[in-house]
Amino acid sequence: MISVAIDGPVGAGKSTVARECAKRLGFIYADTGALYRAIGLYAVRKGVESGAEDHAEKVSALLSEITVEIKLENGTQKVFLCGEDVSVEIRQPKISMEASAVSAIPAVRDFLLELQRNIAKENDVLMDGRDIGTVVLPSADVKIFITASPEIRARRRFEELVNKGVETDFDQVLADLNRRDWQDSHRAVAPLKMADDAVLLDTSELDFEQSVQAVIDLVREKV
Ligand code: C5P
Repeated sequence: MISVAIDGPVGAGKSTVARECAKRLGFIYADTGALYRAIGLYAVRKGVESGAEDHAEKVSALLSEITVEIKLENGTQKVFLCGEDVSVEIRQPKISMEASAVSAIPAVRDFLLELQRNIAKENDVLMDGRDIGTVVLPSADVKIFITASPEIRARRRFEELVNKGVETDFDQVLADLNRRDWQDSHRAVAPLKMADDAVLLDTSELDFEQSVQAVIDLVREKV
């Protein structure tokens, strides 16, 4: 099995680029952020929100009630939380922040580790996240760290939300993105960080097609 690890900060274009590359390469695409989002959503539904002092203990205590699954339906990844399709609901900006908060809890990361590794055991996969090259798949055949400047990433994220009909404003998107980047890079466990053997791909000056091509070239070079 071939595995390609794609990591990087919010809005670097990882998911759209990785999804298209997977399609062209005939690989499975796995969006691991969706798993953390599902746990964030479950916690919010139970009234457990970030900011509370005992947030980590409360979220950890909920894990035994939770099942999360990724299923591919017509090539599109769907996320099921305790059997319910939550693929749309997990995209709300509030859930982005809650996902980032629950993802700093070691018990949550442990809970999702095996699930992610199993996907790579059974499929040629392009997996995107924050710690895929460093923790989840340290022996991935190809590791790519995709980034772009914060303003460009915020612009892309803003346009994505507008296209999905989510009401928002640019300054709020930029502020949320900077906060989430900070949280993701400063947590104690599996922080967002480029693996030593990853290739850095800055997409600030690249359009979508150029970014896709750059990733495909990197994969073809190595496998
Ligand atoms: O990629 P996405 O923005 O959907 O991820 C939501 C949150 O999940 C991120 O802000 C990050 O905190 C967390 N995450 C993570 N490790 C991953 C994927 C996502 O910590 N592999």
